[in-house]
Amino acid sequence: MHYGRIYNFSAGPAMMPEPVLEEIAAEVLNYHGSGMSVMEMSHRSAVFQEIRDQAEADLRKLMGIPAHYKVLFIQGGGTVQFAMVPMNLMKTGAAYLETGAWSKKALAEAKRYGTVTVAASSQDRNFSYLPDCSHLTLPPEADYLYLCENETIHGTTFWTLPDAQGRPIVSDQSSMFLSRPCDVERYGLIWAGVQKNVGPAGMTVVIIREDLIRRDLDEHIPAYLRYHTHADHESMYNTPNCWSIYCCGKVFRYLLNQGGLEEMARRNQEKAKILYDFLDASRFFRCPVAPADRSLMNVPFVTPSPEEDAKAAAAAKAAGFDNLKGHKSVGGLRASIYNAMPKAGVEALVRFLDRYEREHG
Ligand SMILES: *Cc1c(COP(=O)(O)O)cnc(C)c1O
Repeated sequence: MHYGRIYNFSAGPAMMPEPVLEEIAAEVLNYHGSGMSVMEMSHRSAVFQEIRDQAEADLRKLMGIPAHYKVLFIQGGGTVQFAMVPMNLMKTGAAYLETGAWSKKALAEAKRYGTVTVAASSQDRNFSYLPDCSHLTLPPEADYLYLCENETIHGTTFWTLPDAQGRPIVSDQSSMFLSRPCDVERYGLIWAGVQKNVGPAGMTVVIIREDLIRRDLDEHIPAYLRYHTHADHESMYNTPNCWSIYCCGKVFRYLLNQGGLEEMARRNQEKAKILYDFLDASRFFRCPVAPADRSLMNVPFVTPSPEEDAKAAAAAKAAGFDNLKGHKSVGGLRASIYNAMPKAGVEALVRFLDRYEREHG
């Protein structure tokens, strides 16, 4: 780490790879001899068109996205997708897996548009595990099955996809996007707010199978909220989030150069294991998540009491480990260790927690 940067365990916006930030810094006053920064550039210019096209091409390569899927860059963040998904895909109803705060938000929004069935839930134990989804009962009116593949607040992740019984699977991959290989063809639609594991906030990547892009939508649905608008204009219907597209494009290229998603998965497994092994052996800190369902990206943990949680988070911050406070809805602590968190950062955190336990536990 350089420039006085610290290990930042924020759940999002979160760390970006340092070499990418250096490249961006070097180009910020004059992008490739254009005489201007990407922030000042017309989105209709040839220079920007090339940035956009390269970003999409690199993402397609990284994830192996088949040609019959569209890649869309949409503004408004993840919350807009909670509404866009049902607006565009729901004819009569949908089935949702209720596994945490983010799937609950998606569910609440979907209810505005039709009959929503909760096909499985883990609310009974505070979303600390994932429900068995191998034999779901899906109602005939469900047009799709929705899940949040990595619950950022509760620290769970789906290691196997549910049997959707022929319905398209819609997945919120925000906090695990590009953290491991993904078989895109098993999904109807994947979306991810980029500020968790990729780049600057304000944009969502949507990967949608072409046959799910409908044009026969209710006339009251605004142009911007229709997937076909973005698909028909290559995400340039209006001024896109040029800055985010540019920065995310740099991260896509960086990940390709680092060995792609297989390599990211290997590193993420290695990093997460260091932290989980410590927590499982600790007599002061404890991870409440069922081992089989644990996320490699977001690691919630607790001490024996909320008061001790707050003290430990404050001590960690003073020692240069920032943003370890758990989400306000669940308390405790949480370390988000996305792609850009170096292994050295996790090792340093574990050394700190170990010393803290010996001094305070
Ligand atoms: C952060 C997050 C969201 C919401 O994203 P916004 O861009 O803040 O609207 C949705 N889903 C998941 C899994 C998230 O982590």
